[in-house]
Amino acid sequence: MTETQTSSWRIAQQPAERTKVAVIGAGVMGAGIAQVAAQAGHPVALMDVRDGAAQAAVAQIAKGLAGLVDKGRMTAQQRDALLERISPASQMSELADAALVIEVIVERLEPKRELLQALDALLPPDALIASNTSSISITALANGMATPGRLVGMHFFNPVPQMKLVEVVSGAETRPDVAHAIEALARLWGKTPVHARSTPGFIVNRIARPYYAESLSLLQEQAGTPAQLDRALRGAGFRMGPCELMDLIGHDTNFLVTQSVFNANYGDRRFVPSLVQQALVDGGRLGRKVGKGFYGADLAEAGAAEPIAPGLESLPPVSLVGQGPLLDGLGRWLTHKGVDFTRHEAVAAVGGAHWTGLLVGDVRVPLTCGRTAAQWAHESGHADWVVMDWPVAPDRVEALAVACAPQLSALGRAQMAALWQALGWVPLTLRDVPGLVVARTVAMLVNEGADAVWQGVCDAAGADLAMKLGVNYPSGPFEWLAQLGAVPIVELLERLFETYRSERYRISPLIQMRRWGAA
Ligand code: NAD
Repeated sequence: MTETQTSSWRIAQQPAERTKVAVIGAGVMGAGIAQVAAQAGHPVALMDVRDGAAQAAVAQIAKGLAGLVDKGRMTAQQRDALLERISPASQMSELADAALVIEVIVERLEPKRELLQALDALLPPDALIASNTSSISITALANGMATPGRLVGMHFFNPVPQMKLVEVVSGAETRPDVAHAIEALARLWGKTPVHARSTPGFIVNRIARPYYAESLSLLQEQAGTPAQLDRALRGAGFRMGPCELMDLIGHDTNFLVTQSVFNANYGDRRFVPSLVQQALVDGGRLGRKVGKGFYGADLAEAGAAEPIAPGLESLPPVSLVGQGPLLDGLGRWLTHKGVDFTRHEAVAAVGGAHWTGLLVGDVRVPLTCGRTAAQWAHESGHADWVVMDWPVAPDRVEALAVACAPQLSALGRAQMAALWQALGWVPLTLRDVPGLVVARTVAMLVNEGADAVWQGVCDAAGADLAMKLGVNYPSGPFEWLAQLGAVPIVELLERLFETYRSERYRISPLIQMRRWGAA
């Protein structure tokens, strides 16, 4: 077959029961993929270099299915039929009649390349080849194949039977009809496919980097504790905070992915790995799998309570200052909590900048725009400033990060505590760092999503879907962008860029375009 020849891929033409799927690599992912393919009705051949690994994987699948039968989610007959469709294979020649072979072996370029070239030589021209690699370029894997156009990335997420997302990754040579055939197949398998161009980290592993990186960087700056950062981000709707999530993933694994994306981008500071995580890895604090990471027996602070300063007998007058979606959300929340307030849409500038947020008694409580409380206090000549994080989902907030100006008065502190009590939120008092926690994390996730789209890795809808299905984010980057508007995100990133003078905070041209009403 030549690369220009149009082919009808057997997997796209014939029913599942007549199209064999071969899975090579019977580890965690291979077993899950074999199960999903068999569930969709394909005969499946499962192969591994390790003696007995394929048989062990089938036994593991049977165990998982027994649980589903017990819970009534599957009948015993369905389970038996599914298991009958999976056969361990011991020779490559047994895979020659497969309509699709999925490579799920060790994450190293050379063994994968060798296997893909052997498959390319073995398989007839109407069979497709996919790789489940999570970090290796599909373009690089295809190099050396006689028909590189039929190789596509089919990136499943762990655990495969439960996770809906499949990134369909096209390398430079992948034919569009191949990517579309795999997209259609993933849908038939009950998955939600999203197209990605082969670039470091594809979609999810790239856009998710700031979720970990911003908290690691805040920890390096001694801004707060892991428990505080986790609590703040759970209040923005994330199921797990970044520190507890890194403990779950394993710091070794998470660090390797970060290093891989950083190196693949020639050391772009945007993706720079963290010394905090390096120290955890060096010290063997790899996370839950070894019983210690950020949290552990000797760091039992997961549920540490935040001291709440005593409030006042009665709440001083409250005003909502400025305009914008976050302000509107705050206004709705104040009303919901029965707090009377006045609204001031026009605001006086301080040091050339306008602030938006809350005014309680004499205390100015701006939503963070990347300026610190100390800077506001210094430039205004007024001591009582408390910067607040972004309540992106006010009804989910349980605790919100704040930072106090150094000279905040005792009265100001009490007025502030009274406000927080009225809002029903625990104040997480952090060091006075720019951009606090949720704001800088969400802004950087939006920024990374925007760059992925600007660089043609995926489209905006794909970025949103991938982040919600692949890592359970409460919103996708473009949904946050629509919710918050480009202006506060640009402002925040500009300040972070100015403060840290780091490439890490350079703004995606796509967000700039949105700010000017284009793109
Ligand atoms: P694993 O170590 O559990 O399984 C890999 C299996 O491949 C092993 O059983 C090994 O014996 C076998 N193997 C190695 N070389 C082989 C060869 N030449 N021929 C046949 N079998 C061979 O690994 P895993 O977690 O299942 O990961 C497999 C692939 O899936 C990797 O490319 C990984 O990056 C990717 N992936 C993993 C995850 C995850 O969360 N674990 C998620 C997405 C993608």
